[in-house]
Amino acid sequence: MKASSVQEDVFQAGVIGAGGAGFPTFIKLRGSYEYVIANGAECEPLLQCDQQVMLHDANRVVEGLEIAMTATGASKGIVALKKKHTQAIPAIQKAVKASQKAIDVFTLENYYPAGDEQVLVYEVLGRIVPEGGRPADVGCLVQNVQTCVHIAAAASGRPVTERLLSVHGEVKQPKTLKVPIGTPVQTVLDACGGVKISDFVVLSGGAMMGRLIDLDSYTGKTTSGLYVLPAGHPLARKKADSLERTLKIAKFACEQCSFCTLFCPRYLLGHELYPHKILQSVGWGAQVCAETITGAYLCCECGLCGALFSCPLSLSPDRYNASLKRTMQASKIPNPHKAKVKDVRPDRSGRRISVTTLISRLGLEKYDQAAVFESYRLMPDKVCINTAEHIGQPAVPAVKMGDNVGEEQVIAKPASDTLGVPYHASISGTVTAIGKHFVQISV
Ligand code: SF4
Ligand code: SF4
Repeated sequence: MKASSVQEDVFQAGVIGAGGAGFPTFIKLRGSYEYVIANGAECEPLLQCDQQVMLHDANRVVEGLEIAMTATGASKGIVALKKKHTQAIPAIQKAVKASQKAIDVFTLENYYPAGDEQVLVYEVLGRIVPEGGRPADVGCLVQNVQTCVHIAAAASGRPVTERLLSVHGEVKQPKTLKVPIGTPVQTVLDACGGVKISDFVVLSGGAMMGRLIDLDSYTGKTTSGLYVLPAGHPLARKKADSLERTLKIAKFACEQCSFCTLFCPRYLLGHELYPHKILQSVGWGAQVCAETITGAYLCCECGLCGALFSCPLSLSPDRYNASLKRTMQASKIPNPHKAKVKDVRPDRSGRRISVTTLISRLGLEKYDQAAVFESYRLMPDKVCINTAEHIGQPAVPAVKMGDNVGEEQVIAKPASDTLGVPYHASISGTVTAIGKHFVQISV
């Protein structure tokens, strides 16, 4: 297979990072790397879709990894998953053994955020990504395991029309389901036997980095999981806090204990990121120190420094940093932090946060149970596909109202000369609504 055709296949198939960020995969495959790491760390509490992909689709995970290695000239591949994935490990080992390529299996301890690209690269290879850099800067490409499956499908001419996601919390039966892109959240919850309580909220993505969504929302290419929580659950309440209120309190109530910094995974990697100093600089009327506040550019928004874990006052430097980062980006303030780091902080290994501890801190123990894998594909009678889910410019709808479309047909294309990917019909049906950033198809 020619390397150039892989990027084109992956572009045409609309593959984006399935792990959350949604970066177009064909761009990453244009680079050259020494290593490709298939990321199966799945560090968000409770989520189980990636471990199920590795268990039930191990061959295609490895096939996608091999294709990525060939396309980028990487001589070594690694599947990184957790020691606790006791069922997935032998499945992946078997698939790796059958490969002609130099691929290893690496097992990680159960801590958060093991799946963060920079943390993963350090754990697996001992290489530290420079400040403001990417794994590519140290010769690595990191792809989520479900993205690997999508790469393998793309190489066979099949676009992204479905993904696995896991459902947790107050549903009758927590499940891991194969869901067409754009499936109504309500349909997914119904497939889990429905919700057991009347007053609830739905959290999409992960307990730490996810966000509350409306019940009439739809799943997407990056939806890895749904949590159904009582509306009064502490996690739900923290997620529901308004950004304005959170920022106001964070700036003025901080007592500078520095716990937020001490547990920050990027600080622990040796980067000059100090959330407590950022709050001090912008909140206490202290002279604003550009070097300190631009450190927010180094934040991966994992949430560990904030109200969900570190801060004894339930402040949210994480949300503050995220907001600051967007403001600086919008104002075109450059990131001055580019240092190469020689070593991690000496106390890093003792400060890694176990997911078990995190589950307890988040009040999720009750929901820490198996999300039973279902091999069938959900059959919604309607899908609504977000055509702006990726990083880049939204794709432009390429169908019109009333069109009959077949599954896998292109329904939106990137505008010329913009960063983007096409989107495809995930079910066959009739186009019943089109918006600026969505196409709805009904059976
Ligand atoms: S942990 Fe909370 S109180 Fe302590 S320095 Fe950080 S934001 Fe301030
Ligand atoms: S969210 Fe907080 S803990 Fe996570 S990387 Fe950013 S500053 Fe560090």
